[in-house]
Amino acid sequence: MPADTAHTAPDLSENIEELNRLFALQKSAWAVAPFPSYDQRIASLDRLIRLTEANEEAFIKAISDDFGNRARQETLIAEIVVTISGARHAKRSLRKWMRPHGVPTPLHMLPGRSRIEPQPLGVVGIISPWNYPLQLALAPAAAALAAGNRVIIKPSELTPRLAETLRKAIADEFDERICAVVTGGVETGQAFAETPFDHLLFTGSTAIGMRVAQAAAKNLTPVTLELGGKSPAIIDESADLDAAARSIAYGKMLNAGQTCVAPDYVLAPRDKLDATADAIVNAARKMFPSIDTSHDYTSIISDRHFERLKSMIDDARDRGARIIEVGSSNALYPQRKIPLTLIVDPPNDAGVLKEEIFGPVLPILPTASTENAIDHINQHDRPLALYWYGEDNTARDKVLQKTVSGGVTVNDTLWHVAQENLPFGGVGKSGIGAYHGEAGFNTFSHLKPVFYQSRFSSGALLHPPYTEKTTKI
Ligand code: NAD
Repeated sequence: MPADTAHTAPDLSENIEELNRLFALQKSAWAVAPFPSYDQRIASLDRLIRLTEANEEAFIKAISDDFGNRARQETLIAEIVVTISGARHAKRSLRKWMRPHGVPTPLHMLPGRSRIEPQPLGVVGIISPWNYPLQLALAPAAAALAAGNRVIIKPSELTPRLAETLRKAIADEFDERICAVVTGGVETGQAFAETPFDHLLFTGSTAIGMRVAQAAAKNLTPVTLELGGKSPAIIDESADLDAAARSIAYGKMLNAGQTCVAPDYVLAPRDKLDATADAIVNAARKMFPSIDTSHDYTSIISDRHFERLKSMIDDARDRGARIIEVGSSNALYPQRKIPLTLIVDPPNDAGVLKEEIFGPVLPILPTASTENAIDHINQHDRPLALYWYGEDNTARDKVLQKTVSGGVTVNDTLWHVAQENLPFGGVGKSGIGAYHGEAGFNTFSHLKPVFYQSRFSSGALLHPPYTEKTTKI
């Protein structure tokens, strides 16, 4: 089994001292230069793109070593390409996003003018998780830099090699008064959340997100919380079952299911339950014909998460659910990998239906109707993503209107996250706020309302001393 990474990033008091030093440095730099120009922001985005390209191989290796094995193509697409294309989108749109824009002024306030003028917030903190450790550090950083902020990133302690490679890459490319990384574990994370940043973006679990929000509240630091949850995939009666199965198998096996927006479980028509399971198995076998020895299938990040997933499967088996494995657990377990494991119709009290799975384990539940699927979703916390497969637009619209989720892809999985013109974020327990594209620029900006009074204003008529006429204006 690959070496466990869980304890390889020690929490040193030096980490917290370094955090305090960087924060003080960036705060005083901000006081001197609080409004970077368009050209300075473009230069920051160029640096971010350059360091991602220049360190591509080092990032791929560091992430793979941290995971035990991370498919090279997965890192290329979901970390490198996604980060660069997000930063390029920001570069293309920046002039438009930065431009102050006028809003209508009511008749009685004319000839004054009203405008919204985006302004950098100051020093932004970013806490990132291990599952896409590069993308989830750099994509929010790109948005914060585009908005003219200074940035400190704290990567996860579960990906220490990536954290150190990223720290060096950023230190080589950026002035630390503009962007820097501080490494460390939970204690550093706690100190980070208590630092009086001007905005804090946290990506991670709902449980830790609550603690981060509490710590930030002590300073009234505004937070964006990008959290997790159980994202359903609904297969409607009208769906092309094979196409839905291909999509779900892909979404669940990418990064071995360790994706915040992976389909967590499937809701399928009761009479198609077995056909759904068969179709997903066939699709998975086609994608990974020799999964037991494939470098394209990613490992589970740590022994703790591996054991957590195994006990979910054992618990469902003990409760009488039907288990189907795509690949051999005998061959995969020693590599700290888990085969795609379908759990057909588990009982309601199975652990796999209670907590976010975050691995390649897929419960498939029978539903009697669209209403039944909607009821099931609404009895649980609001999910980060929802996937709906089918051709019946009435059923689709019913699901869209009667469920609340962070985002939706219709007839596929994951794709809404890749659309830079769509905001990305959760709702309820799956998150607060959003970023990506213009939503990211706005999240990290103060959208300052400014009213320009005209010297021909009649406003002085409202000043005291008050007369009967004052109230008749
Ligand atoms: P986690 O919550 O355990 O850790 C996230 C980060 O928080 C790490 O950097 C960690 O060091 C830090 N941290 C831990 N304790 C802290 C504390 N008390 N105060 C401040 N920081 C602390 O999450 P994880 O296991 O790294 O990531 C998996 C979770 O993240 C899943 O729930 C997944 O759904 C979610 N996720 C969400 C998104 C999204 O965009 N919404 C993306 C990826 C992952």
